[in-house]
Amino acid sequence: MDRSAAHTSASDERVRSPEHALRNVGICAHIDAGKTTLTERVLHLTGRESRIGRVDEGTSVMDWMSEERERGITITAAATRVPWGDCEINLVDTPGHVDFTVEVARCMRVLDGAIVVVDATKGVEPQTETVWRQVDERGIPAIAFANKCERPGADVLACAESLRETLGVTPLVVAYPIGGGDADEPLSGVVDLLERTAHAVDSGGALREIPVPDAVADEVDVLRAELIDALADRDEGLFELVYRGQTPDARALEDALRRLTREREVVPLFCGAALLGHGVPKLLDGVARLLPSPAEAPLPVLFDAESGGITGGDPPQTLALAFKVHSSVRRGTRSDFTFVRIYAGTVAAGTRLWNGRTGSTEEIQSVLRIHASDVEHIGIAHAGDVVALGGLRSTGTGDTLTVEGARVRLEPPLVPEPVLGVLVEPVRDEERLTLRDALEQLVREDPSLRATEDAASGQWLVEGMGELHLDIALARVGDEFGVTPRVGPPRVAFRESVRGHSRGAGEVDRAFGDQRADARVALRLEPLEDAAAAVEVELDPEARAHPEGEGLDGATARAVDSALRTEASTAGPVAGHPLSGTRIVVSDAAMRGSASVEAAWVQAAVAALREALREASGAGEVEVLEPRMAFVVDSPVDVSSGVIGDLNSRHAAMEEVVATGATGRRISGTAPLRHLIGYSTDLRSLSRGRATFTMRPAGFAPIAADGGSERGEFATGR
Ligand code: GDP
Ligand code: MG
Repeated sequence: MDRSAAHTSASDERVRSPEHALRNVGICAHIDAGKTTLTERVLHLTGRESRIGRVDEGTSVMDWMSEERERGITITAAATRVPWGDCEINLVDTPGHVDFTVEVARCMRVLDGAIVVVDATKGVEPQTETVWRQVDERGIPAIAFANKCERPGADVLACAESLRETLGVTPLVVAYPIGGGDADEPLSGVVDLLERTAHAVDSGGALREIPVPDAVADEVDVLRAELIDALADRDEGLFELVYRGQTPDARALEDALRRLTREREVVPLFCGAALLGHGVPKLLDGVARLLPSPAEAPLPVLFDAESGGITGGDPPQTLALAFKVHSSVRRGTRSDFTFVRIYAGTVAAGTRLWNGRTGSTEEIQSVLRIHASDVEHIGIAHAGDVVALGGLRSTGTGDTLTVEGARVRLEPPLVPEPVLGVLVEPVRDEERLTLRDALEQLVREDPSLRATEDAASGQWLVEGMGELHLDIALARVGDEFGVTPRVGPPRVAFRESVRGHSRGAGEVDRAFGDQRADARVALRLEPLEDAAAAVEVELDPEARAHPEGEGLDGATARAVDSALRTEASTAGPVAGHPLSGTRIVVSDAAMRGSASVEAAWVQAAVAALREALREASGAGEVEVLEPRMAFVVDSPVDVSSGVIGDLNSRHAAMEEVVATGATGRRISGTAPLRHLIGYSTDLRSLSRGRATFTMRPAGFAPIAADGGSERGEFATGR
């Protein structure tokens, strides 16, 4: 069937406004399922000829960074626009690695629909499950694609079963391969079960309608009947038709399927082979016809900029979320692209937007749309769209852009606790400034990365969510900023948590310049419920107004608050690790002398904190916590006992060992991060490269005497 004709059935409602013709979709897949291949196929299939306003600094689009190509994993999340029928699709690239789940979560925010790609020979793999959880949490409608259908072992119906079992969804098989898998014939095309039509791809990549071959006709008829039954079971209109003995037409089936997909009752399963082009046009039809437009998507949740709580009320006139910052330095000039999803109003070049987090106004120099390999200046973009903005200076990933003074944000503050760090220093002193720039830039792009400079040692502590996360960040420093710093061995981010109540007092009585000050501060420590939560600092009212002297006022209170937080970040009384899970309550503060000297306040407060920590430590009330990682190892069965034995020696707590396919084992559990350093190398040699694994932070737990840590997990304070 002609593609444009196929579209008219669903296009009536979409032509109402440009927003209705938009789709913001992301591809979720396990590494190697074929996300990049599919994306490239889509770009090729939808490639447009006329391109406007090439940006000089323009780069190749979907694989921007060289190590992304090298490592074959997608780290950055960019957005690319492709036309399809009377739709425009923004393809948002979701990061594939679980080390970057924070980024995945952020990308999910801007999607209205998802494409779940699974390898048809393997079914749902662990990362797909992880990413699916985010899709599920955000209530995003999805369609699925069984890829690599030409390969031996490929089985679309087994994929459907795997989607049902592992993701708990109701998959509906809407396309069926002709040949491929373990059939006698090679893959020659794909049948559309709604229309009962078939398409083949010829050697040039062009799509050609063919009759449904006899070899699959019986299967196709059974599957089509099952599909109609499944839809009729869930759609009253369709049920009526079928009940009255009529055969619903493709349009009626599609209408029911669209409604059920958008309501997340079902996940239509398409199939094909991205590498060969099979099934991809039908998948794009699915995006255009089944997934919702921004106009049909639910309104975003708004948070109060100060309290962080959810607020009601209308969104401000203009509202956009920066979900990705990409910066590149070429020939010494830095150029930033800030990817935004616009939720309300318009964003135009030459206008300004307000960033509430930084309290600054950002000038938008350009509004850009990115196509296969080109950048188009569009000048203005409207609600619902995903575009890149040029010229923003201080906006970071996760920031809300809005009208000046609007006290809302689109994303709650998200502070993942880093679990691993490395010390980094320049090899040559001339490189110090470049290194500082590079690290600042990386942190702006990726809020789950931290870089703390220690002025005394001239080193930075760079912390993140795992070994791979740090490896990639530091590789970028070399590739994009041209400095290769000296990098120390990985250091696990331990925490120290006060589990009892203790008190401390500090006094500073001396001259500060020509002023004499006598400051006294008393404070107490209380355990927070979550031992790994960030430290809280509180000021009792008495500390503000002391009967015998001057108390802490606005400015000095802020100075004391900030000094206590800084001290707490290195104050652990057992081994100097950062404090966590502790509330510091300043219970009393008094200043006698000629004036309120900030330095005196600060020194007295820090002395009080140190005393309270010594007391807690002396009483045995300080617990050292360590990060644990949740791992999933996929191993061939003949080496799986070796893998399990090795994990046991790493003090892993096994959760599950399940069979995957005929010859695989999937081993999951948690283990202390400190025993998993270098695991990727060890697993490779242990399995001769045949086992793969993923891991993600799974909270902090007290260190146990036997070298493991207690199994009970604490929330990470996210
Ligand atoms: P990603 O990690 O999900 O981005 O996966 P890639 O697109 O990089 O693909 C991983 C591997 O699978 C590559 O070697 C691809 O050539 C291969 N691949 C992708 N699609 C197909 C397909 O349809 N058939 C076959 N046989 N291989 C495919
Ligand atoms: Mg890829």
